[in-house]
Order: sequence, then C-alpha cells, then structure tokens
Amino acid sequence: MESKKVIAAARPPAGMGTPTREVLRALRVTRPPAAVLVGAALAALAPLGLLAAAVVIVVRMSSYGVWYITAFMVAFTAVTLLLAGLAWRGTKRTVHIGEYDGALFVARLATGFCVVAAVVGAKLAFIDGDDVPWTFALPFIGTAVLWLPALAFARPSATGWADQVLLNRGLPVRDEDEAQLLLMARPHDCGHTQPLGRHPLVPVADRAGRGWAVDQPCAGCRRPLGSLFRLVPADRQTDAGGGDRMWLVRSADQALGDVGDLAGRSPAELVRLREAAAVAARCAEELLASVPPDRDTVPGRGQRGRVLDVWVPRTVWSRASITEQVTRWRSVLGGVDAELAGRAGQQ
Ligand SMILES: [Zn+2]
Repeated sequence: MESKKVIAAARPPAGMGTPTREVLRALRVTRPPAAVLVGAALAALAPLGLLAAAVVIVVRMSSYGVWYITAFMVAFTAVTLLLAGLAWRGTKRTVHIGEYDGALFVARLATGFCVVAAVVGAKLAFIDGDDVPWTFALPFIGTAVLWLPALAFARPSATGWADQVLLNRGLPVRDEDEAQLLLMARPHDCGHTQPLGRHPLVPVADRAGRGWAVDQPCAGCRRPLGSLFRLVPADRQTDAGGGDRMWLVRSADQALGDVGDLAGRSPAELVRLREAAAVAARCAEELLASVPPDRDTVPGRGQRGRVLDVWVPRTVWSRASITEQVTRWRSVLGGVDAELAGRAGQQ
C-alpha cells in the first residue's frame, strides 16, 4: 500500500505508545521544562487538526448520502485517523521521554505534500499560464505551523530533558523479582531470551524515579541489553503476567529436561541448575497462587504477558498441572541443595 510507504518514510514514532494516564501520572511527578511543554502544545495541533479533518470528511460523506461512501473515502478517513493516532503518540513522547523526532513526522509528511503542491502550482503559473488560486498558499502555511515545535525542542533546556527522565523508558515493575522475570521472559531485539537464573541488575535513579538497569550483553547477540525497569507502587498493574511465568516454567522444563544424576555434575553446573530451578519454582508458585479457590485454572486475565505457542495444551493452566510443576521444581531445588551440602560436608 503506497500510503504505508509514505508514512514509514516520514518516520512515525516507533514502538507502542505509553497510555495517556501513565504519561499524566509521570507529568505530575516531574514537570518538564517550559520549552518542552510549549513544544508539546504546538505538536498537539497536528493530531487535533487530523482528527478535525477526519470529522469533516465523515460529515461531508454523510451529506452526500450513503451511496457516496465509497471504499476510497472510508480508507481515506481511516488513514487520517491512523495519522492522528501516530501524531498523538509522538506528542506524548515529547513530554514523557524527551523524544522529539517522532512528534515532527506529520511536518515531514506535509513537507513532502508541499513539494507536490509547488510543482503543480508552478505548472499552472508558468506552463499553463493560469492564475494560481490563493488556496495554494494553505499547505505552505500549515506546514510552517507544523514545524513550529522544532523551534521549542531545539532550546537547550529541552535537549537535556531526555537524559533527566531516562527511567520513563523503562518497563514498569513492582519489585526486583518482577524485573528479573521480564528480563528473562521477553526476547531481546535479536529474538533471543536470557538464560534462566539471577541476572545482575544495577539500581538506578533519576528525576522519573527509581529502578534497575541491566549492565550485561545479550546471551544471543552479545550486544548490550540496555534494558531498563522502573519501580512502580505495589498496587499497580504491570506488564508481567501469568503468560510470562508459564513461559519460564515451560522453558525450564525444556532446557533442563530430566535433571537425572546430580552427583555427576560439576559445582558450576549445580549452581546454574539451582538458579534455573529457583526461577521455575517461584513462577509455578505464583501461578498456583493466582488460581482462585473456587476455580481449577488460572483465569483468563491472569494469563496476560508472553503468549504461549498454539500447540501448548490449555491444560497447562490447570491447578493439577501447575501443582505438579511446583512439586517438581521444589524437589530439584531440594536435591541440588542436599548435593551441595553433602559436598561441603566432605571437604
Ligand atoms: Zn540480543
């Protein structure tokens, strides 16, 4: 689809947007510099203008009657609404994480449109010898307005904002255990996940709050992970869900398989096995705790997070299956601890 290519070329804000509620909450904690607020207010004109345009298109369409609502007009409205959504996402990012490039993507799109308008206007005036209507100035005036936020974002106080609220880019977590869980359950950009175990997390803080950074390379591609986690109050819902926990339990199952004879394992192997079993045991226990007393399975909303493969049977969510996992990993942990204690006693 051509419009998709044009939009991609204008570099819309990447990634999922932070919910507006979250952005407003962060704004109450840390107020951005005036330049950022002014820039954001100006940048908000783009989504508002696009939304207004979509409404005008719909009203015009309905005034022509239902038979005039062609697929083209419906698609045109949908693209306008999509652009408004992307522009709104870009606007929120300016105040939330100090990322300004995404907020200017409608300005970049409009600049491309201006080039087309200039060519058409020049043809009318110089080749056809017609009078160019005054309305040809409108795209240029509109585009100039769309670029106004760039002036505010270029102020020194605005350029430093991103560094002051780096933690706003972090995944919200309720404690360090949840940060560890998400680090292992969610794949890196390269597609690899990190091995089961305890990973070194560095406590960090900035104007956005407190949290943890991951200072280690990815186990798959060896590039720095660069993961950030932001501490949020314990009563807040976070991204970490039952899906992540189940995925980790199943990963332990696949990676460790039949644990077998512990006596033949090296001390380093035993330590790794203990760490992985501890993750699986903790996740299975948390899953079991999420089964309501009057139910036999983890409820649907408790299965959020990482999606399991389609061929994983639904029965993995049952109380019986999870209890089996808790027993299994507790027994592995007990076995490893006994083996380690036995060896320590022999020395
Ligand atoms: Zn990687």
